[in-house]
Amino acid sequence: MLLIECPYCGLRDETEFSYAGEAHIARPVETDKLSDAEWADYLFMRSNPKGAHREQWLHAAGCRRYFNAVRDTVTYNISATYRIGEQPPGEGKR
Ligand SMILES: [Zn+2]
Repeated sequence: MLLIECPYCGLRDETEFSYAGEAHIARPVETDKLSDAEWADYLFMRSNPKGAHREQWLHAAGCRRYFNAVRDTVTYNISATYRIGEQPPGEGKR
């Protein structure tokens, strides 16, 4: 059984969580000035790395809050979880 640490509730079974996409995707401020290609890039293009990946997760069957996690896409190991608006432990601002 895989346990995931919700930053609000603590360790819980993975069945309580839902994946919610790549983390730290900032919505463009002036969307009316974007080209169609830039808008499509914001909407659809994601990094899909092999290795450490910063992701959003939803604690759907718990506190129902979103949070971020750093998950290795090869081993599935989650090395850190942290609240929305925070940076991963050990990393400065990006
Ligand atoms: Zn929770």
